[in-house]
Amino acid sequence: MHVQTKRDYDLFVIGAGSGGVRASRMAARYGATVAVAEERYLGGTCVNVGCVPKKLFVYGSHFSEDFEDAAAYGWRSARPEFDWPTLRDNKTREIERLNGIYADLLNEAGVEILLGSARLIDRHTVRVGARTITAQHILIATGGWPHVPSFPGNEHVITSNEAFYLPQFPQRLVVVGGGYIAVEFAGIFHGLGAATTLLYRGELFLRGFDDGVRQFVAEQLRAKELDVRFNADVERVELNADGSRRVWLADGQYMDADQVLYATGRKPNVAQLGLEAAGVTLSAEGAIAVDDRYRTNIPNILAIGDVTDRVQLTPVAIAEGMIVAGNLFNGSDRGLDYEDIPTAVFCQPNIGTVGLTEAAARARFPKLTVYESSFRPMKHTLSGRNERSFMKLLVDAATDRVVGVHMVGADAGEIIQGLAVALKVGATKAQFDATIGIHPTAAEEFVTMREASR
Ligand code: FAD
Ligand code: NDP
Repeated sequence: MHVQTKRDYDLFVIGAGSGGVRASRMAARYGATVAVAEERYLGGTCVNVGCVPKKLFVYGSHFSEDFEDAAAYGWRSARPEFDWPTLRDNKTREIERLNGIYADLLNEAGVEILLGSARLIDRHTVRVGARTITAQHILIATGGWPHVPSFPGNEHVITSNEAFYLPQFPQRLVVVGGGYIAVEFAGIFHGLGAATTLLYRGELFLRGFDDGVRQFVAEQLRAKELDVRFNADVERVELNADGSRRVWLADGQYMDADQVLYATGRKPNVAQLGLEAAGVTLSAEGAIAVDDRYRTNIPNILAIGDVTDRVQLTPVAIAEGMIVAGNLFNGSDRGLDYEDIPTAVFCQPNIGTVGLTEAAARARFPKLTVYESSFRPMKHTLSGRNERSFMKLLVDAATDRVVGVHMVGADAGEIIQGLAVALKVGATKAQFDATIGIHPTAAEEFVTMREASR
C-alpha cells in the first residue's frame, strides 16, 4: 500500500520578489501552509534595484529642469546644487523601510520566511542552508540578473544594480543598450548633471515600441543635449591610470567616462537552483519553460515572473503569482491574458503605451486609421523649454476599435493607465470622441483627435 507522507508545506516559494511574495500571501490567504526562501532582499528586483529606486531617481533627476523652468514663473533662487549621497542614501533608507513592510506582510499572512539560497533536491524537496524542507508544490520565482556580453574589459563596466549604490557621482557616464533600462538611466544621470552618452548598436533604440515613439524620443533626448549615438558598437573598455574608463568603438573612436553602464538585457536566474536534480527543463533561451498555467514539465513545480522570460514587468509577475495561488488553492483554473499590457518607460519625457504599434496593427488590420498629434505642453509656453509631447491613436477602420494608444510626454504612464482600461474593454474611436475632455490637460488631446493623419 502506498503511504502518503505529510509534507512540511503545501507551497514552497523560491524568491521573495514581486511574483513570489504575492503568490505566497495569496496562497496563505486561501488556507495553504506556505514558506518562502529569499537569498538577497525581500521585495526582489522591483523594490531593491528596479522600479522603486529607479522612479525615485527619476523624480530626483527631473528637479534640474524644474528649477530652470521655475524662473519664468517668477521664482528666483540661488543656483541649486546636487548632492548625490543625499539622493542615494535617502533612496536606500526608503528601500529598507519597504523591506520591513514586505517582511511584515509575509509574517501577517502566516508565511514562513527563510533567509538563504534555496536549491531543489528533488521534485518535492528543497534545501535552504542546513534545512531540508518538503512541499507539495514548489514555485520558482527567482527573477533575472543583468547580462553583460563578453568583450575585452567587461570587468570595468557596471550594471543598473551598481548604479543605485555608486560611492561617487559619475561626472561622465556612458550607457550601452537601447532598451528600458538604458534609456531610463541615461535620462536619470543626464538630469542629475552627468555628461551622458547613450550608445546603441542598431539604427534606432527601443525596439518593439511604435516607430513614431522611438523617433520622437530620440529627438527629445537630443534636444536636451543628451548624446545619443546609434550604430555604435563597443569593441573594448580599458581602465585609465586615473581610474576612469576608455570606451573604444568598432569605428576606432573612443570616449572617456567615469563609469560605463551596461543595460543589455537580463537573463533568468536559474544557476544553482538544482533544476537538474528535480528534472525541470529550460527553454532554448535558458528560461524556465512553463505552460499556460505556469507548470513546468514537472507538474508540481511551477514558475512565474522574469525567470520564465516572457513579459518582464512587475504587475505581470504579480498577476501570475495571484493566478498560481488561485489555481492551486482556490479551485480556479486560469491563465493570464497577455494582450494589451500597458507599459511606461520613465525616460524624460516618459513613454506610455498600450496595444499595438503601428507596424503590428498594419499587419493585423487591412485598414488602419492613424491619429497623431505633437505639441508644446502648456507648461513650456512660459518656461520656453524645447520639449514637446507626442500622442498617437491607432484605429481599426473596419470595427472602429482603438487598437493602440501611444504617448511621449510628462506623466505619460499615468495617462495611459486609464486609457488601458478603455482598450481592454474594446472602446471604439466614436466612444473616445464622445468622452468629454478635461481642460486644460495634455490628456484631453486623446479625446479630441478628429483629423486622421493617414
Ligand atoms: P524578482 O523581483 O527579481 O525576484 C526574484 C527574487 O528571487 C529576488 O529577490 C532574488 O534574490 C531571489 N532569488 C533568486 N534565486 C534565489 C534562490 N536560489 N533562493 C532564494 N531566493 C532567490 N518593471 C515594471 O513593471 N516597472 C518598472 O518601472 C520597472 N523598472 C525596472 C528597473 C530596473 C532597473 C530593473 C532591473 C527592472 C525593472 N522592472 C520594472 C522589472 C521588474 O523589476 C521585474 O519584472 C520584476 O521584479 C520581476 O519579478 P519576479 O518576482 O519575477 O522577480
Ligand atoms: P531590454 O531587453 O529592454 O533591452 C536590452 C537592450 O540591450 C536592447 O536595446 C538590445 O538591443 C541591447 N543589447 C542586447 N544585447 C546586446 C549586446 N550584446 N550588445 C549591445 N547591445 C545589446 O533590457 P533592459 O536591460 O533594458 O531591461 C530588462 C527588462 O526589464 C525590460 O525588457 C523590461 O521588461 C524590464 N524593465 C521595465 C521597466 C519599466 O517598466 N519601466 C524599466 C526597466 C526594466 P536590440 O534591441 O538590438 O536587441
